[in-house]
Amino acid sequence: MTSKEFRKNGKELIDWIADYYDYVESHPVQSKVKPGDIRASLPASAPQTGESFEHWMQDVDNYIMPGITHWQSPNFFAFFPCNASGPGILGDLLSSGLNVQGMMWATSPACTEVETLVLDWLVEMLDLPTKFTSAQTGGGVIQDSASSATLCAMLAARERVLKRSVTPESKAGQAELLVAYASEEAHSSVEKGLRIIGLSSRKLRKIPADGDFAMDAALLAEAAKKDLKNGLIPFFVSATVGTTSSNGMDPLVEIGQVCTRHSIWMHVDAAMSGTAAICPEFRAMHDGLEQADSYCFNPHKWMFTNFDCDCFYVADRSGLTDAMSILPEYLSNKATESEQVIDYRDWQIPLGRRFRALKLWYVIRHYGIQGLQHHIREHVRLAQTFAGWVERDANFELLAPSPLNLVCFAHRDGDSKTKQILEQANDSGKLYASHTVLKGRYAIRMSIGQTHTELRHVEKAWDLFKEMAK
Ligand code: PLP
Repeated sequence: MTSKEFRKNGKELIDWIADYYDYVESHPVQSKVKPGDIRASLPASAPQTGESFEHWMQDVDNYIMPGITHWQSPNFFAFFPCNASGPGILGDLLSSGLNVQGMMWATSPACTEVETLVLDWLVEMLDLPTKFTSAQTGGGVIQDSASSATLCAMLAARERVLKRSVTPESKAGQAELLVAYASEEAHSSVEKGLRIIGLSSRKLRKIPADGDFAMDAALLAEAAKKDLKNGLIPFFVSATVGTTSSNGMDPLVEIGQVCTRHSIWMHVDAAMSGTAAICPEFRAMHDGLEQADSYCFNPHKWMFTNFDCDCFYVADRSGLTDAMSILPEYLSNKATESEQVIDYRDWQIPLGRRFRALKLWYVIRHYGIQGLQHHIREHVRLAQTFAGWVERDANFELLAPSPLNLVCFAHRDGDSKTKQILEQANDSGKLYASHTVLKGRYAIRMSIGQTHTELRHVEKAWDLFKEMAK
């Protein structure tokens, strides 16, 4: 593609995306294609000769768009927000355009330094403990996902424990004894991470949650004590700020006390809800975070930053690099030897990395702190308004507290009625919401946080649920 063609096609594509956002609301939110439909509509083999941009775009319109579920629709209320924005898209585009591979400071200094800067900014913006800044012992890094952040935290936690062993044999023996803890409401990525590091699911203690879906810290303390008595080594606790199912808030202060008492690594997963800490009035959910060894949240969920972007912080960066760093000759360079630079390849699983910080930098510079606060407050206000409607309706009830932007509710006639309402609402194409099961009850999850969701969308959703209940 010549630069002249690139310029022309690129401008057309930007127009196409802008049109998409202008009209995204008019699409049925959830794709209704059947498995295999999309593949069957496209040629089975690759073309022998190149095809034109116009031809690709025709196929996008005709064959790809029917298979798109419109996460950017203001009527998307399923799972969790995955909100995007103009500045986020442009930052991602610039990252693709530069296409640097920022595995080390030396391979593109700006890629590393902007990332360190923006992650330090976020510590201040969210009022996180200052030990997570690069100026102190810790630091932040962008991962692809919260799952990867949890996995990295586990690797660092394991290394910290095994470092105490003197021989490889005693290390292997100790590894057998490791056990981890998370609430029964924690995200499945905790269990997956354990499997990846070679510990079976049996090594995860799922601590019961209380009536508000928060980890019962007294039961955590009991479980750790029992394991220690049996000669096992508690090495990792994952606490959640905003559980996936219901937005439950684990008590970080009490969990931190257990972790401190037994020298257990405390990881805090605030994948979606962490963003809310940009508003001082929501920061109580982070009380106790100063005891954590690591923390993560996803700007790709609720901070208008295009997927993928998870911010992962550690209190002691040497703990992370001890677990991850291997320096083969072909990567050695003067900057690394000087120990004056960060090489983020040592802070993550893959070697290579994109310039993800650009999109986050653009987003923060576009909205400013006050702009971000405004939108987060608005989403929370909409969710609280919706929760109020549910509470006051004789036919529906709330199944969990709604501290922020997620409302879990059900019809009083029981699970099959609630399920029927959700299925019919989703089938209408007018919205997309998802479900969970809370204390044995089927619940509709109304997750509010898409960039362009306004009161009128939430009102329409409520009317639709009531209509489907008739
Ligand atoms: N942790 C929590 C609390 C989540 O809600 C989610 C996603 O829903 C995850 C982790 C996994 O997120 P990711 O897709 O970034 O791995």
